[in-house]
Amino acid sequence: MADLLSLQARRAKAVPRGLSTATTIFAARAQNAELWDMQGRRYIDFAGGISVLNTGHRHLKVMAAVEAQLKAYTHTCFQVVAYEPYVRLAERLNVLAPGDAPKKTILLTTGAEAIENAVKIARAHSGRPAVISFSGAFHGRTMMALALTGKVAPYKTGFGPFPTEVFHAPFPDGYRGVTPAQSLAAIEMLFKSSIDADDVAAIIIEPVQGEGGFNIAPFEFMRELRELCDRIGALLIADEIQTGFARTGKMFAIEHSGVVPDLIAIAKSLAGGFPLSGVIGRANIMDAVAPGGLGGTYAGNPVACAAALAVLDVIDEERLLERAQKLGAQIRGHLSAMAGQARFASIGDVRGLGAMVAMELVKDRETREPASDLAKTVVGKAAEKGLIIITCGMYGNVIRVMVPLTASAEVVDEGLAILEAALGEAIIDSR
Ligand code: PMP
Repeated sequence: MADLLSLQARRAKAVPRGLSTATTIFAARAQNAELWDMQGRRYIDFAGGISVLNTGHRHLKVMAAVEAQLKAYTHTCFQVVAYEPYVRLAERLNVLAPGDAPKKTILLTTGAEAIENAVKIARAHSGRPAVISFSGAFHGRTMMALALTGKVAPYKTGFGPFPTEVFHAPFPDGYRGVTPAQSLAAIEMLFKSSIDADDVAAIIIEPVQGEGGFNIAPFEFMRELRELCDRIGALLIADEIQTGFARTGKMFAIEHSGVVPDLIAIAKSLAGGFPLSGVIGRANIMDAVAPGGLGGTYAGNPVACAAALAVLDVIDEERLLERAQKLGAQIRGHLSAMAGQARFASIGDVRGLGAMVAMELVKDRETREPASDLAKTVVGKAAEKGLIIITCGMYGNVIRVMVPLTASAEVVDEGLAILEAALGEAIIDSR
């Protein structure tokens, strides 16, 4: 049996500290919403590999599709020899994306790469340089994606200079007092102070901020952003990397607002645990880039495409859009009931869209001072008790749930009970 301490020592010696791990767990195997470590301990997985496992660990249908693809071919590079699963996946995504206009899809590998490509396409289409993103946004760790990211430590610290022509506006945050009107006014101010509106290629937004704290962009705000983009001739890019593929009860979170974005960046749960990302967009925009301008050796890997096709089948067959609503109600119900108890006064806010649910921990409900250390303690205690769960938020004080949508109500209840116990103990310890 592998000894955990020696594994951690080997990790510390062989892997740089800049890559941090939320728990001390080493995985041995996993199935649906459960994971077992190398010591044989069972965990319920509320992190889903950061929103990658909406269809759970190793869904049987996904595994079967992957196995079949492994027997045919695993790599050709689409730029050298094309393959049908890529085309079929693009066709399906083009139909699933909101809006009636004809669409095209390019497949890539990581979320950050999808963001990079979305910006390249927006610039090529518009002939304009600038991109506006939001405070608290997370768009990835490559240089352009980092420039767009709206949180300095730990993501951006020490990595500049970043690509220029990136501007940030405050994300509307109901809990921390940024109204949609203030957010829109700040964008208008950018046009006065920093960048000509005619030079803006795109505005990029997560319909629900993931790393930023599960902040939901008000639907009316999304519609106003759409109007603003139309007025200045900029594209609206939805970063659906964390929100996509049924997490919020819709295939894409932006559908809740009825807004049709010009480009959608996708990744994570698209391929159920295999590295795959993409950009879906209006065909005329996607075709703005000349042949050879887009690509990537591994981009749209055939094994990942096979997995993604199966994921889309599972979302449909297992009615995961409805399931996300039900699961979300179950999770929100439990967290809200906790928040109603005097002993859980540290829960300042419970919020969510579909099964993208979080609770924000505070030192004081009046001042709303973030309880970042408390959140960290909860994560540690939860792991000790058999629950994998992680934080998010500008202050790291938000506990977020991204449990597989295929999890049973019983397993989710079991996980919520552990979370409740972990928070209860952490609050007592913090006194
Ligand atoms: N955008 C969003 C909204 C994300 O949540 C993430 C990853 N957490 C990314 C982009 C970057 O994705 P990746 O880590 O695959 O590059």
